[in-house]
Amino acid sequence: MVKDTKYYDILGVSPSATDTEIKKAYRKAALKYHPDKNPNEGDKFKMISRAYEVLSDEKKRRIYDQGGEEGLQEGAGGGGGHNPMDIFEMFFGGGRRNRERAAKDVIHQLSVSLEQLYNGVTKKLKLNRMLVCEKCGGIGGKKESVTKCRNCEGHGIEIRQMQIGPGMVQQIQRTCSTCKGEGEVIRDLCTACKGNKRVSQESILEVHIEKGMKDDEKIIFYGKGDQEPGLEPGNVVIVLDEQRHPVFARKGDNLIMEMKLTLSEALCGCTKTIETLDGRKLVFNLLPGEVIKHNDIRTIHCEGMPHRRNPMEKGDLLITFTVLFPTDLGAPARNGLAKLLPGKSEPIIPDDADEHVLVKVTERQQRSRGNYYDEDAHPEGVRCQTQ
Ligand SMILES: [Zn+2]
Ligand SMILES: [Zn+2]
Repeated sequence: MVKDTKYYDILGVSPSATDTEIKKAYRKAALKYHPDKNPNEGDKFKMISRAYEVLSDEKKRRIYDQGGEEGLQEGAGGGGGHNPMDIFEMFFGGGRRNRERAAKDVIHQLSVSLEQLYNGVTKKLKLNRMLVCEKCGGIGGKKESVTKCRNCEGHGIEIRQMQIGPGMVQQIQRTCSTCKGEGEVIRDLCTACKGNKRVSQESILEVHIEKGMKDDEKIIFYGKGDQEPGLEPGNVVIVLDEQRHPVFARKGDNLIMEMKLTLSEALCGCTKTIETLDGRKLVFNLLPGEVIKHNDIRTIHCEGMPHRRNPMEKGDLLITFTVLFPTDLGAPARNGLAKLLPGKSEPIIPDDADEHVLVKVTERQQRSRGNYYDEDAHPEGVRCQTQ
């Protein structure tokens, strides 16, 4: 039980979420609410970053689970936390050397199916890039017509006095309204970029998704991002987002699937087929005499995901069997089976034995086996009393 679910709620995960789920949730939310993409969402980005910072750190998460936000303030890892932008950079930052001298990276999440990661695929991605205007070379107008902004003395920031009460004045700093923070004024604007120094251009990126790539893997297009006058062009970082598959779950290079068997199939054997992610049909036999129990696991070697570096090699396919027991056996089947199947106990019952009726346990109670004797988990809501 956790004290407070706030951080989990912010990321939209349950308190029992795994590290991978938390990472995935942050990735999605951070890209969506990054101030570049969603400038009107206020503190949302900050809250997402803080929640991730705590929940992705084993120690801080434990403290938070036990004591909530107050617990964090008291214990280690307290304070306001890191800068949200730094956390974002650490998470997404793809091999950039000179951060100050380069334009910001453009980060995109790309949905890929398990089939696409198995077979490899090339996806085309349409992006709008900001390019330095060719006509004016990024000056924004005629060079001679550029002058220092008089309103802010070229600093790009203006300071305003605000009366907030009788005899009380507050100074407020804000972006210069005359030059919009540029620090300069252009009289003769460039006709191509209207003084913006940059123009937007649509470009198509071909993203090659190689066999065996994984969720969260980054593909970086160096220098293909936005341009800014006087800076190196930024990168485009594509982050892969693996979609859930209806049949297979992936664990590293292995694939895991569930297969349902009727009781007859589990006891007496059968032939089964599986369609692979590249459309082949696998056939295997459960041999007569090989009894499959509920939750038994069998492996087919080399039918998992291709290895990233060596796609000729593959992981394994693990099959977990779910045995479907019949809910209602008719009398003929019941009698027939009783004769055929071994073992029926016939205990000797002493005269003073207590006779009981078995009470059904709900599915929810079964799941919380450990806490079975919680008040709300007890059947009928009564407590056992010893006389
Ligand atoms: Zn100005
Ligand atoms: Zn221009």
